[in-house]
Amino acid sequence: MPQSGFGPSKLTYQMSKVHNYSAGPCILPPEVMRKASQSVIELDGIGLSLIEISHRSKEFVAIMEKARGLVRELLNVPDNYSVLFLQGGASLGFYMSAINFMKNEGGKGAYVDTGSWSNKAMKEAALLGEVIETASSKADNYTHIPKGYTVPDDADYFHITSNNTIFGTQFKSFPESKVPMLCDMSSDIFSKPVDVSKFDLIYAGAQKNMGPAGTTVYIVNKDALGKTGRKIPSMLDLAVHDSKDSMFNTPPVFSVYVSMLTLEWMKSLGGLEAMQKRNEEKAALLYNEIDRNPLFEGTTAAEDRSTMNATFVLKDEAAHKERFDKMWNDARISGLKGHRSVGGYRASMYNALPLESVAVLTDVMKELERTA
Ligand SMILES: *Cc1c(COP(=O)(O)O)cnc(C)c1O
Repeated sequence: MPQSGFGPSKLTYQMSKVHNYSAGPCILPPEVMRKASQSVIELDGIGLSLIEISHRSKEFVAIMEKARGLVRELLNVPDNYSVLFLQGGASLGFYMSAINFMKNEGGKGAYVDTGSWSNKAMKEAALLGEVIETASSKADNYTHIPKGYTVPDDADYFHITSNNTIFGTQFKSFPESKVPMLCDMSSDIFSKPVDVSKFDLIYAGAQKNMGPAGTTVYIVNKDALGKTGRKIPSMLDLAVHDSKDSMFNTPPVFSVYVSMLTLEWMKSLGGLEAMQKRNEEKAALLYNEIDRNPLFEGTTAAEDRSTMNATFVLKDEAAHKERFDKMWNDARISGLKGHRSVGGYRASMYNALPLESVAVLTDVMKELERTA
């Protein structure tokens, strides 16, 4: 008889010590993971699991409201903005951002092309109207963030991707735009304070700095909605979701709950100023080693390099790759392989990655140099 996997269990949950550099889904704080796993057995002593209660129950409504409130508090979201926890990932956000902002008649969306994700956003928008490529760094394989362009003021909106997860570049300051600015902030939201009022829409998949995959946060200026003259399907209409307090249909309850726990964790550590300090320290440690170590080099322009995803290569792969790969694997580092379109290595250092994990990596890099 095969053994059922659901026999009596002691539920002693051991965190093994792996340094998790995964680009997404990615590392979450261990204390969040412990509380989340407990909630699946029983939520806060109510005798029921989080995933077997109604999303209309007072317990879950309180969780949703707390999660929305924490986003407001951490990002200092203005009162006329709505915070929504929806589904579909940022990949649906590409279309949703366009359909909620692009005019039905002669619609035009302007985009900065900083890599694969902005490209995908442009592709979805092109289904609805004209897409204007305001600037692009494609000719340089996206190694920098374009600068010195003007946003066309006859566009319905201007869309950017704040952090380029694959190529390792990041907007260090946001452009000025007279038309509504929309931003895919999937891979650097909550990594630092942001002036939300500069944007009419921010959207971000949860699985990089906020929680497990399954929910996407939308922060939208309510005054900017309802101006396209389009018929929008209910599930894609941000005004519909706002009117139902993010409960138009069953939300992804587990993802929202774990996101709430992570947001609480950020707040308990001092909020986004503290996250920024932590992230800048980690990035400085790694980039200084990449720049100092004669065996390595970064793949992006120094002024645009991302604090979240550091991309780098070995100068001489033939001589050092095999040994370096063995060394970081032996050091229990996981997820360091670069994206196939860049090659080399990518170290994703999201909020929950501790500084010690970066020190383990830089020690391995030093050791490689010492023993080369
Ligand atoms: C990961 C990522 C996406 C895709 O998110 P999904 O939730 O998989 O749809 C989009 N944009 C950026 C910047 C990302 O990092």
